[in-house]
Order: sequence, then structure tokens, then C-alpha cells
Amino acid sequence: MSTSIQQTPAGMAEKAAAIPMPSSQFEIDCPYQATGPTTLRCSKCNRPLMPKDARRTPTGYVCPYYIKARVATFYNANPIHYAIVVAVALVLGAVAGFALRFVASIGFFAIILTFFVGPAIGGIVAEAIRRVLGRTRGQHFWLAAAVAVVVGATYFTVLPVLLSFLVGSPNAIFGLIPILGLVLAVSTLVARMRV
Ligand SMILES: [Zn+2]
Repeated sequence: MSTSIQQTPAGMAEKAAAIPMPSSQFEIDCPYQATGPTTLRCSKCNRPLMPKDARRTPTGYVCPYYIKARVATFYNANPIHYAIVVAVALVLGAVAGFALRFVASIGFFAIILTFFVGPAIGGIVAEAIRRVLGRTRGQHFWLAAAVAVVVGATYFTVLPVLLSFLVGSPNAIFGLIPILGLVLAVSTLVARMRV
């Protein structure tokens, strides 16, 4: 690749003519080697493929190296992206905790409302992270986001419950409503982010 940059278009054409066309159709950078006779072929690199090594994809059977390469290019996040995920989820988690606490305080319909608000919050956080990060994909973004949301929401959800149980408050049981909301929010968040 680096040598072709210095070549004139005429030189490149000459070189292209000199190289035989890849009649083998093998992808050069696929290191897969079949260990025995087989009639199966990798649909990506076209090499003979052992049935035990075959991985099923929507476009046919491929060799394990293709799957590895695809996973490596699919997840393109670096630690800074993870830090952004955690920061966004922490802030939104705190807001979510406050919102869930507010919803739980309204009285009679608190539980019913929580069943709507909880998943909605999870969806909003997942969407916010998606917008901030664009096309960056991290294999464990969902986990980082889920933990950060819980940590962010702790002050408004988990701490009050712990305190009211500690002092033996008769209303302690109602403190569980925001936690229910948080569980719903996090499970929605994880479901949205793990696709
Ligand atoms: Zn292959």
C-alpha cells in the first residue's frame, strides 16, 4: 500500500496488469486453515471450512476468524467513551432518582405511575447515551450505564429507604416504590443498550 502512493498512474496500471487477478478469491488476511477434507466453504473468504469451525451468520457459514475480526471492528469504543457513558448515566441517574422519588410522593397512583415512569426513564437514558456517542459502540456500555444510573439515583432512592428502615419508620415500605422504578428503569436501559 505504501509503495503505491509514490507511483505514477501509468506505473500503477503496469503493476495492476502484472499482478494476476485473484482467481482463487481468497481473502488475503484470513488465516483460517481447514484441518481436514470438507465441502463447506467460508462465505466471506471462500476457504474450505470445517463444519466444527463454521459459524452461522445471516449471509451463510463463515470461519471463526471472520467473526473475530467483525467483533473487533464492531466495538470501537475507547476508555474516554466509557467515561462519557458513565458521566451521562450518573447525571441522568440523579435526575431519574429525583423524578422517581417525586412520583412516589404523589400518593394513591404512585405505584401505577411508577410502572410507566420507570421504563420511560430507562429509554430516555439509553437514547441520550446513543445520541451523545453517535456511532461509537462498546461491548460493555450497557453495564457501565446501568451501574452509573444506580449510583446516580442512590441518593434519592436507596438512601431514604435505608434511613427509614433504620429508624423503623412505618412509611418505610413506601420508600420501596422509587426502588421499583429504578429497577424498571435499569432493566429497560439494559434491554435497549444490549441489542
Ligand atoms: Zn474466512
